[in-house]
Amino acid sequence: MMRDALSAIVGSEHVTTPPPSQLEDASIASAVRARDDAVLVRPGSADEVARVVGWAYANGVPIVPRGGGTGYSGGAVPTEPESVVVSLDRLKAVRQFDPLLWRIEVEAGMVTSDVARLARENGLFYPPDPGSAESSLIGGNVATNAGGPHAFKYGVTGAWITGLEAVVAPGELVRLGGSTRKDVAAYDLPALLTGSEGTLGIVTSVWLRLIPAPEAALPVAAVYPDVATGAAAIEQVMASGIVPSAIEYLDERVVDAAYGSFPLGDLGRGFLLLLEADGTADEAERGRDELLEAAREGATALHAPTDPSDVRRFWEWRAGVSHAVTAQEGGKLSEDVAVPVDRLAEAIEETIEIGSRHGLTACSWGHAGDGNLHSTFLLTPGDEDQLRRAGDAAEELFAMAIRLGGTVSGEHGVGLLKNGQLSQQWSPAAVELHRSIKQALDPKGLFNPGKKLP
Ligand SMILES: Cc1cc2nc3c(=O)[nH]c(=O)nc-3n(C[C@H](O)[C@H](O)[C@H](O)COP(=O)(O)OP(=O)(O)OC[C@H]3O[C@@H](n4cnc5c(N)ncnc54)[C@H](O)[C@@H]3O)c2cc1C
Repeated sequence: MMRDALSAIVGSEHVTTPPPSQLEDASIASAVRARDDAVLVRPGSADEVARVVGWAYANGVPIVPRGGGTGYSGGAVPTEPESVVVSLDRLKAVRQFDPLLWRIEVEAGMVTSDVARLARENGLFYPPDPGSAESSLIGGNVATNAGGPHAFKYGVTGAWITGLEAVVAPGELVRLGGSTRKDVAAYDLPALLTGSEGTLGIVTSVWLRLIPAPEAALPVAAVYPDVATGAAAIEQVMASGIVPSAIEYLDERVVDAAYGSFPLGDLGRGFLLLLEADGTADEAERGRDELLEAAREGATALHAPTDPSDVRRFWEWRAGVSHAVTAQEGGKLSEDVAVPVDRLAEAIEETIEIGSRHGLTACSWGHAGDGNLHSTFLLTPGDEDQLRRAGDAAEELFAMAIRLGGTVSGEHGVGLLKNGQLSQQWSPAAVELHRSIKQALDPKGLFNPGKKLP
């Protein structure tokens, strides 16, 4: 009956039993168990999304929005009986693009890197750059408020949104904001949906602001003998008055894992900082020189590629770091806690200690300027005991982030895997506010049940 009703809306060829790849996300190492009685529906328009939601809402069927499935928190995985997984991958249109006015409206199913590419081909820049950009969808980025290396200077996805179109309960297509760059008339509903991980509605399109592309971006890589010297260099860079477009770090173990593929000669072993200056060619060059100066103290090696193809290969190498770490033992549990930047060194060192306490090899890398660590425990696929210990280690990691004044999630969201953590981080009254919002927007609790809220 569910299939017949959905087929009548989207066509029977777009209603299927989800293949295994559509029942998981990047949290697969955590062995999230998807329900095998879910139905996958792939609407072809925002109106069809509204009708699918209308039917599900009327019939009490759980709704699991799905983008590119690159999430790390099990958010897009159906875990309630007889859910409908609503994939946005057919909503790919560019609805409006005005390069001269620096704005674009794209549907939720457009791949993130296609948005960035289209902007670049027109001399513009869409800065949010999650490492998954070739596979994640822009709607998934909105739903998780995704960041990336350049969030340090340019902010996360939400900083670029001027409006959203979304389907909310009980199946209404609403427009929240639009292309106007300033709008303080209403409650900030686009911001409320941004980062809501599919628990308040389904995003069907997004209006984005763009900026003229910087003419040049020049990186610097600096290697330090230990975490303390590297962390001191981060503070030195931030105190120097330069605004780097990225401040990334890799700890010693991560450097070892990715060492062999560094494209620009002998990297040097140790704690690595990756910095970047952008702007006009002159500004980027001056910024790069200033970064080199600020990062010099304590560094055992400095690299500053200038050739555009070297610069490209440099960032491609950075994007491959997560895979290089996975390759160490075949699997990993990778978290995304964030702490105030002056507590970063403690968090990096404690990550290793937490791993040792649980008999696990641990490492971290991440967005140093934002205090955002990808604290990671290496896993052998199929080793259930190791997985259980990694889960316990992650609990300690979350407690550490909260103790240091940070957050359990700087990037990936709470989803299924960190469910309950909000209650550790926020006061009961603040958690209750979350519940009131959920109740107001989703009175039947059908949007992504079991995710995000404790
Ligand atoms: C190699 C790798 C690197 C990564 N690097 C980064 C990084 O640098 N920064 C970062 O922030 N994240 C990163 N991530 C995590 C992930 O890519 C992001 O969270 C991304 O935004 C998820 O987008 P997606 O389209 O794959 O969403 P999915 O995984 O499909 O879904 C994520 C959540 O959003 C909901 N959702 C999806 N689409 C919609 C929609 N249209 N409306 C409402 N809800 C929706 C889902 O229900 C789910 O809860 C990385 C992941 C990988 C695998």
